[in-house]
Amino acid sequence: MIDFTLTQQDQKILDVVRERALICRNYARYYDEHEEEFAPAELPENEQFKDKHPFVLMRGSGENDTSFGVMSMLVSIGQTWGDYTVRLQQGAGGLGNASLGAVGTDEQKTKWGSMTLAMANTEPGCGSDSKAIITTAVLDGDEWVINGEKIFVTTGCRCDGVVVWATLDASKGRGAIKAFMIPKGVPGFEVTHKEKKLGIRADDTAAMVFTDCRIPRENLLGGNEEIVQKGGGGFKGLMGTFNMTRPGVAAIGLGMARAALDFTRDELAKEGIEVDYAASPSERSAVAQKLIEIEADLEAAELTVLHAVWLSTDGKPNNMEASIAKAKGGEVVRTATQRCLELLGGLGVSRDYLIEKWFRDVRITDIYEGTGQIQKLIIARQILEYSSAELS
Ligand SMILES: Cc1cc2nc3c(=O)[nH]c(=O)nc-3n(C[C@H](O)[C@H](O)[C@H](O)COP(=O)(O)OP(=O)(O)OC[C@H]3O[C@@H](n4cnc5c(N)ncnc54)[C@H](O)[C@@H]3O)c2cc1C
Repeated sequence: MIDFTLTQQDQKILDVVRERALICRNYARYYDEHEEEFAPAELPENEQFKDKHPFVLMRGSGENDTSFGVMSMLVSIGQTWGDYTVRLQQGAGGLGNASLGAVGTDEQKTKWGSMTLAMANTEPGCGSDSKAIITTAVLDGDEWVINGEKIFVTTGCRCDGVVVWATLDASKGRGAIKAFMIPKGVPGFEVTHKEKKLGIRADDTAAMVFTDCRIPRENLLGGNEEIVQKGGGGFKGLMGTFNMTRPGVAAIGLGMARAALDFTRDELAKEGIEVDYAASPSERSAVAQKLIEIEADLEAAELTVLHAVWLSTDGKPNNMEASIAKAKGGEVVRTATQRCLELLGGLGVSRDYLIEKWFRDVRITDIYEGTGQIQKLIIARQILEYSSAELS
């Protein structure tokens, strides 16, 4: 049976997460308006929380408490409920770490697991269609030579290294695509540009160029290239990265949308508009009814996230459910924040409050790690039992 009821221990952890996340609101506007700056790795106020990192607190959880996977999603929601700037202080860990986890050998995981790794897939001519990448990897003696350009790489400036998707032979499609760990500082690897964005400005999003960039043979993720040539460590495994990360992306958006809803509810309460849950829809004001609908949408989206992660924690396939969580979350955070702005009138677009920022910040949820349309294609393929060649 699926049961997401929180225990006392779960709630204790989430309370600390929220308390800590609130601190980030003090920095939110500054880093929104100073996109060119990087925040410190730790905020000074966090000294008081140094022994209270959520993942450390979770070590005290028992078998009756909520599982690590599900709790990680609730922690993400709780963190970004503070503000997206919370992502600045997370330290180690990036999308590339999830790729390393998905296709790296045990030795590679030990060697690079503590580094913050970005993941570079997208290119100027290839986004949704990942198999169209043209960055090349050619073996020359004991080294791979990487040539190509990558764009929109999250944590590209701050990472210690990047997991780069490259093709061994562009004429051979997805089967020839492999991932390579390229540490910062290697000759021929240059971060060329930091993107200026609509929202999530606290995140660094970078472009990078690889020009005759040489890395050791063993930096091919998955290890021995003979195994990799036979399919190990390849495209399919790399796509599996997203089954782990897509629910997390939705969770990040949902935290901000919840913050927008809570702010809206508080502002309306100041005007004497309270939600009476016991009343029937015909007895409630239109405003109260709208608030309840936003709340219900967010709760439904949250449940899709928890379900997707619960499946993977239980060792079950979650390819479709991860896409459902991402598609549902991406859509709901957009509509929820938009409806909150409508309810607040002019106050909603004022820079005196963070809600206009959250409205901008959530927009990316439906774009990165596969757009909403791509998620719907994945879901349709699973339901209709089509291959990607049959439905794309
Ligand atoms: C802030 C940010 C951070 C990012 N971080 C990373 C990162 O860390 N690493 C990385 O590799 N990439 C990253 N990306 C890139 C992101 O994953 C791509 O932008 C995304 O996959 C879409 O690709 P695209 O921009 O080329 O759009 P396109 O693929 O050109 O899509 C444009 C539009 O066409 C639609 N479309 C495309 N194909 C289909 C289809 N078959 N059927 C129906 N509709 C379709 C899309 O849904 C979209 O609406 C990031 C992007 C941003 C903006």
